[in-house]
Amino acid sequence: MEAKDFIRAQVVEDLASGKHARIITRFPPEPNGYLHIGHAKSICLNFGVAQEAGGECNLRFDDTNPEKEDQEYIDAIKRDVNWLGFQWAGETRYASGYFDALYDYALQLIRMGKAYVDSQSPEEISQGRSTHNGAGIESPYRNRSVEENLALFEKMRNGEFDEGSCVLRAKVDMASPNINLRDPVIYRIKKVPHHQTGDKWVIYPMYDYTHPISDALEYITHSLCTLEFEDHRPFYDWLLETLGTPAHPQQIEFSRLNLNYTVTSKRKLKKLVDEGHVNGWDDPRMPTIAGLRRRGYTPESLRDFCDRIGISKSEGVVDVGMLEFCIRNHLENTAPRAMAVLNPLKVVITNVGDETQILRSARHPNLPELGEREIPFTREIVIDAADFSDNPPKGFKRLVQGGEVRLRHSYVIRCDEVVRNEAGEIVELRCTADLDTLGKNPEGRKVKGVIQWVSATVGVAAEVRLYDRLFTQPDPEAGDDGFLGCINPEAFKVVQAMVEPSLAAAAPEDRFQFEREGYFVADLTDSKPGKPVFNRTVGLRDSWGGA
Ligand code: ATP
Ligand code: MG
Repeated sequence: MEAKDFIRAQVVEDLASGKHARIITRFPPEPNGYLHIGHAKSICLNFGVAQEAGGECNLRFDDTNPEKEDQEYIDAIKRDVNWLGFQWAGETRYASGYFDALYDYALQLIRMGKAYVDSQSPEEISQGRSTHNGAGIESPYRNRSVEENLALFEKMRNGEFDEGSCVLRAKVDMASPNINLRDPVIYRIKKVPHHQTGDKWVIYPMYDYTHPISDALEYITHSLCTLEFEDHRPFYDWLLETLGTPAHPQQIEFSRLNLNYTVTSKRKLKKLVDEGHVNGWDDPRMPTIAGLRRRGYTPESLRDFCDRIGISKSEGVVDVGMLEFCIRNHLENTAPRAMAVLNPLKVVITNVGDETQILRSARHPNLPELGEREIPFTREIVIDAADFSDNPPKGFKRLVQGGEVRLRHSYVIRCDEVVRNEAGEIVELRCTADLDTLGKNPEGRKVKGVIQWVSATVGVAAEVRLYDRLFTQPDPEAGDDGFLGCINPEAFKVVQAMVEPSLAAAAPEDRFQFEREGYFVADLTDSKPGKPVFNRTVGLRDSWGGA
């Protein structure tokens, strides 16, 4: 195993010193939303470390907030982790699977005089925990007897108290400068059913109490989490030391992934979904794993991205261009080429008859094993309206009246006539092909421009969805109206395109480079062979903030 970051260095050291014979990590999502690109970083780290060390990684749902959680999220998270290319060890685990053990440990803490039932209101508790002359204020209930605490906790469990009327708190240190040690709440009453345990419980353990014990019960060796948990580590360690759990995992923090032009908070992503700003968690504009997948990202490209950004303790913002680079880089070397015309303009080649000529081209210039595709050439074709100009800017290399252009993989054509409708709009071009230019340059002149085209008669109509960045601002939170105030209205457009016939059979998730346009994927949900729908994954080059 290579010590390529400080966490892997620690793991290498712990294996070398014999502290651990086998490494066990875990990925612990809360099933209250879909996973996003930030989670991909944590997944690649936890599963990656385990794989490289010949150990294993658990998938554990941290499900202590039943109202916010849902089976739909559990299913989506499992699907996404698998799709990214990882498999957890054994069965899926749930913090709720440890509710009995967590309850027994709470009894143990009470018996040790290390936990008490506090009957203050939530406001009084939070007031008491805040700082008054450098310390918190002790609860008047802090010194209840063990017997009284056991009896009250039992009543909490039996549903004899109302929500909010009391909680169980760990008895640590109200004078600690670290608020997390000022007698944190470890159990609260919530009379709601749970997606895994049904009506069994009306008290639920808090995250900070549940997480260390769950880690210990699974014999996790390294509990990897993001930096905001650094201040929680003292309680993590206090709890496991006090209880004397059979294992004491080492918590190590690393910095979260922040991406510009992106929000990575499940709460905000849920708002985008719930308020209808996007069409669901897997909308291709979303930075969720499911959204990136539908957008056309590959697991390889996301893993490559996580590898490139690396693991450290320094907070920074990664340019979303890096993510786009990774998918371009992967598709450049793998995606078959094809021609698509996104904004079709009819062209009649007047010196060609009604028969169809089959032209051929490699599916990929560097992957002969992908074979060739047939490209039918017919008298009527379409080109992109933007590839013709009747008022060409300087340096325009594509088609103009009286000018010539190369049809990709086909002939050089000359535009003889522009046909307009009554409104003066261009509706058709009439051209002649130089039939001596197939696979060779025209005699005595240079033709610089090359454009894509599709047969108008045997080409296939396809819906193409053009996606772009969801936010117009690098820091979507910076403006007065927050992230909802800078949603990019141009991030989703639908066009009716014509694509070459080889694309008709595209299966959902088949990926292509549409020559001169970018990378596209047949939509996972809506594309059907014979009736393809394509999503633009990314353009051929970075078109933001420049040319
Ligand atoms: P969010 O803020 O999106 O709700 P979370 O941390 O509450 O995220 P969890 O489901 O608890 O979401 O996260 C599971 C794991 O993924 C945790 O270990 C968490 O630290 C990690 N994680 C979440 N967001 C990021 C991120 N942006 N970068 C790296 N790791 C992350
Ligand atoms: Mg969380």
